[in-house]
Amino acid sequence: MTSARRRSAGAPALTGAHDVDTDALAAVLNDFAATVTGDFSVDDILSQLGSGVARVLDVDGAGVMTPRAGGGVLRVVFATPGPAEAVERLEESLGEGPCHDAYLSGEPVAVDDLTSTGRWPALERRAGAVGVRAVTAVPMRARGRLWGVLNLYRLDSGPLTAAEQAAATTLANLATSYLVVAADRDAARNAQDELAHRATHDPLTDLPTRWMFFEQVSHAIAGLARRPGHVGVLFLDLDALKEANDTFGHEAGDRLLTTVAERVRGAVRPTDVLARLGGDEFVVLLEDLTTPGAAGTVAQRILDSLRVPYRLAGRAVSTSVSIGIATTDDPAQTADALVSQADSAMYRAKDAGRGRYEVFDAVTHAAERARTTAQERLIADLTHALRAGELVLHYQPIVDLLAAPADRERGVYAVEALVRWRHPTRGVLPAGAFIDAAVGGGLINDLGAWVLAEACRQLTAWDDELGARAPQRVFVNVSTQELTDPRLPGRVADTVRAHGLDPRRLTLEITESGVISHPEVTVSALEQVRALGVQLAIDDFGTGYSSLGRLLEIPATTLKVDQSFTRGLSGNRDAAAVVSAVLLLGHNLRRTVVVEGVENAETLEALHELGCTHVQGYFVSMPQHPDELRVQLVDPPWLAATADPGY
Ligand code: C2E
Ligand code: MG
Ligand code: MG
Repeated sequence: MTSARRRSAGAPALTGAHDVDTDALAAVLNDFAATVTGDFSVDDILSQLGSGVARVLDVDGAGVMTPRAGGGVLRVVFATPGPAEAVERLEESLGEGPCHDAYLSGEPVAVDDLTSTGRWPALERRAGAVGVRAVTAVPMRARGRLWGVLNLYRLDSGPLTAAEQAAATTLANLATSYLVVAADRDAARNAQDELAHRATHDPLTDLPTRWMFFEQVSHAIAGLARRPGHVGVLFLDLDALKEANDTFGHEAGDRLLTTVAERVRGAVRPTDVLARLGGDEFVVLLEDLTTPGAAGTVAQRILDSLRVPYRLAGRAVSTSVSIGIATTDDPAQTADALVSQADSAMYRAKDAGRGRYEVFDAVTHAAERARTTAQERLIADLTHALRAGELVLHYQPIVDLLAAPADRERGVYAVEALVRWRHPTRGVLPAGAFIDAAVGGGLINDLGAWVLAEACRQLTAWDDELGARAPQRVFVNVSTQELTDPRLPGRVADTVRAHGLDPRRLTLEITESGVISHPEVTVSALEQVRALGVQLAIDDFGTGYSSLGRLLEIPATTLKVDQSFTRGLSGNRDAAAVVSAVLLLGHNLRRTVVVEGVENAETLEALHELGCTHVQGYFVSMPQHPDELRVQLVDPPWLAATADPGY
């Protein structure tokens, strides 16, 4: 007997033979609230429901059944010991009964006397011996699926009163909403693991990426202080990836890369670290070399292993790589220097006729210096360009799918400012061609100040010209170097004020890796910027190596999912899982989630299915000169260009 029944036996209930114990109901609701702040599992919630109901209602037992992983038959998650448990176990083993019917139909099933309905002959025969009579089974439904069934048992044949039914349904609904929360949380966790793995591993070959490799090289070099010897880096470049892509297609190119990764893996020791730096570049870290020459032996073994032909697009082909080697016995050497020495040696191997290895020496070093000179020239030209007014901002719309097309003006949620260089001889250069040089040459603060002022000026100019059709927000990219400059918040405040711009219309785009790598400086700078009313967006979301938890500490209003996820969306389930988890997380935390790099209608369609609301990319609109964009703002063509996707 439950506590509720025992109590009502001593003190007659006010509203009838069976009553809802409202104090117990309040206590159960409190317990639920306390549980969900902890690390609760789906089974925890279901068990809590079962035991809670048994406390609240004047019944002789309660139980909860849930579908098995493979679907079909139900299993018992919770049952009050005694007759209720006995009936549940019978239903579980026989695969029939009121709970199964409630589950299959999605409707509540109530029977007055289980022993005489004639519906479940096998169950009824045995239930007689157990003594259970009345059964009420309440299905638990949410998000279009059934999560389980709540069952209430009585030894007499009294049906549930309306009040009891209402209490049972309330508790079942409450538990179901917590189940949904738990499922969402588990999905977000899986996505977080996936993000962490992707950030440190190449999706194609599953090899560690640049960041992890450099960590390991630094570690190995530092170890030379304790244990003298040599550390080597092999820098491998595939000689014919581009040809393979062009001749046989990208799938064949991918096969080539995975084959090379496997062959190289097989040619080195299991403890040697093999990583992919991107494109057709691989690197190997060799620790504990007895002599520098031993690295050459490993390089030769790799070259030999790659000569064995393999099948590609139905043909037997073999491939070659060019390998550069650099070694050191100096614990003060840096990982950057060692890898870049191996890199320049690799160039020499390529020049010398491919399919071979070269060891770094002074001559390669001179070649490296020549490249530095080219970089210095670029920086000098860029310094001039900044003063001579050769820089210009192009703007790429970020479109709000929910606002368009009914409200065409609001279809443009914001525009992102992207800097371009009208180079006197090389044409219009995209940011990607010179931003790194600006950072390396110490120009980025000046360039950033110009970009910010120009973007604010343009936004107010559009206001004057276009009124309500002017973009409401401008997004401006800020590099990590600018973020770590203590003058940044003051500069932003001055610029916004000078243009009389509402600070909420300005969003600064920062990259997660920038913030994570300098948390102490950047977090306070970001808080100062936020205090002005200026908004923040995390750009290239998902490409850093931070956990979701740490990213959420950044006071950003917008997350911009990186293009690499968008590109993988059609064929790659992991990419879709990450995008949908970020969307879910963003929406729950009231962040605006913008998906970048939308290049075609299929991607837009897939994003729409995932519930994405804000998109950016060539398919929606290219980055454009303000004069061209003005035309679009007056009569937005991207809505027509999407060939009526149906929203
Ligand atoms: P981002 O902020 O992630 O900008 C997106 C880049 O992707 C831009 O390249 C844009 O032209 C390009 N893009 C836009 N839609 C698509 C698409 O559908 N497919 C593909 N494949 N690409 C698309 P861009 O202009 O060369 O800029 C490269 C990066 O340089 C930017 O990445 C941003 O990090 C940086 N950058 C651009 N302008 C500035 C600036 O004014 N200041 C600073 N500090 N960095 C800037
Ligand atoms: Mg950006
Ligand atoms: Mg981006």
